[in-house]
Amino acid sequence: MVGIITTMTPAQPDADFSMQPIGHIVSDFPDKFGIPRQPGLAPAASANLVLSHPFDDPLSVRGLEDFSHLWLTFLFHLSPDRRWTPLVRPPRLGGNARVGVFASRSTHRPNRLGLSLVELIDIDTRRGVRLELRGCDLVSGTPVLDIKPYLPWVEARPEARAGFAPQAPPRLPVGFSASVEAILATRSDGTSLRELIIQVLAQDPRPAYHSVASEAREARTYGVRLRDVDVRFQVNDGEQGSSVRVVDIVPA
Ligand code: SAM
Repeated sequence: MVGIITTMTPAQPDADFSMQPIGHIVSDFPDKFGIPRQPGLAPAASANLVLSHPFDDPLSVRGLEDFSHLWLTFLFHLSPDRRWTPLVRPPRLGGNARVGVFASRSTHRPNRLGLSLVELIDIDTRRGVRLELRGCDLVSGTPVLDIKPYLPWVEARPEARAGFAPQAPPRLPVGFSASVEAILATRSDGTSLRELIIQVLAQDPRPAYHSVASEAREARTYGVRLRDVDVRFQVNDGEQGSSVRVVDIVPA
């Protein structure tokens, strides 16, 4: 309507609100330690997003199968609530330098909201709705708040500046002991698990402060939980660079 001025009621800028998760993640990562720090760094990481009632109506995902990638908005439910600080220490900066929380992808942030771009492999609507995903950086049980299809013509900006994280982190070479190779050979998912282990450990999942030189750390054995196993590994920080060796796999 031309010529009519409508007075809008201003939204309460600091109103409280609550949200209901639309579903949750079931992933290869039972524990948050070791999960790559962004999606896509471990393409072998598979996950399902299981929608909850009433969002599990197959009509709610009609047309989604035509998109290859999705944005997931989720809650960092394993991060403490209401315990954020204005400055955080990104692992990418060695865990020592600080940047503003809003200049980071830290899990410790107001509202604990996370955002991940994941690959959509399949949609199963036989019983409710289950989205099969790949490349997820989310721990199993993560509550998902929303799904949106990814639009590359507007959202892919390779020329963008990316601050302290201008490119993907370096990847370390990963080797396996003979006994670990033997264990993997007995598993029906041995090939995909091996791939997943390589992709996860190549990211050097040690806590950032362990990247600071220390003689003790070389002999230290770390563990990451992947699927149903605890993967034990050591990192050799030699003069030629670091490398990872998987020394054992035990039931988690
Ligand atoms: N891509 C997302 C983003 O930018 O919002 C997540 C980035 S965050 C740096 C990735 C880390 O979040 C993973 O390495 C994992 O340790 C942690 N994480 C994954 N799921 C989580 C959850 N539900 N609660 C708390 N931390 C989680």
